[in-house]
Amino acid sequence: MSVGRGGPIVTVDGPAGSGKSTTAREAARRLGFRHLDSGALYRALTLALLDSGTPPDAWPRLTREEIDALNVAVAPTPSGFDVRVAGRVPGPELRGDAVTAQVSQLSRLPAVRAALLGLQRSAGREGRLVADGRDMGTVVFPDAEVKVFLVADITERARRRLLERGVARPSDEQLRDEAAAIELRDRRDSTRSESPLRRPEGALVVDTTHLTVEEQVEVVVREVRRSGRS
Ligand code: C5P
Repeated sequence: MSVGRGGPIVTVDGPAGSGKSTTAREAARRLGFRHLDSGALYRALTLALLDSGTPPDAWPRLTREEIDALNVAVAPTPSGFDVRVAGRVPGPELRGDAVTAQVSQLSRLPAVRAALLGLQRSAGREGRLVADGRDMGTVVFPDAEVKVFLVADITERARRRLLERGVARPSDEQLRDEAAAIELRDRRDSTRSESPLRRPEGALVVDTTHLTVEEQVEVVVREVRRSGRS
């Protein structure tokens, strides 16, 4: 129901490399909705902590006040939201190896999830949003009008992640190493007690292994139009 909102909320959840962010961003553009990349918020907090020199083994003891003091915020733009750390939009280091290796250690912490929940919900206040992440349809926007859950074969997900980093022809060894890193992150994200990655009830499950980005976007846009909510 979009009562009290200006339009529907569409959630796109799934494991690393399943195509969530690319699909959600382009589907939002086609629908004239805003896009929220919730993973960027967890990445921004991780980056801020790494930059501050706080060692990862101290993260479980962070208080809510200390997390809020890192000053991670979302600012609306015409197409979505900028994620800012202390007023600055982070550069490519947000998706770099250092952040990627540590982010799921931070995102399992209840104080972190509580601190980011309000920011994410405020992004959905006016509706007309496509939000991607791990718990968009289960925890952050349980009343979303349309829920999609993307999955893909692990080797294909590893290939996509390497391609994003400019490795167009990965060796078998590179693929194996990347797949192992993704599986570790998926395991951490799926087995944590707080907001684990899981398929939201009633979500449309889409296997993107053999789909192009265009086809993935089309599935989401069609589902929103089919629901009569766009
Ligand atoms: O989507 P992306 O790979 O950028 O997400 C980075 C990490 O942020 C995930 O591996 C997960 O640990 C965390 N995350 C989360 N909940 C979300 C989005 C991301 O825990 N809704």
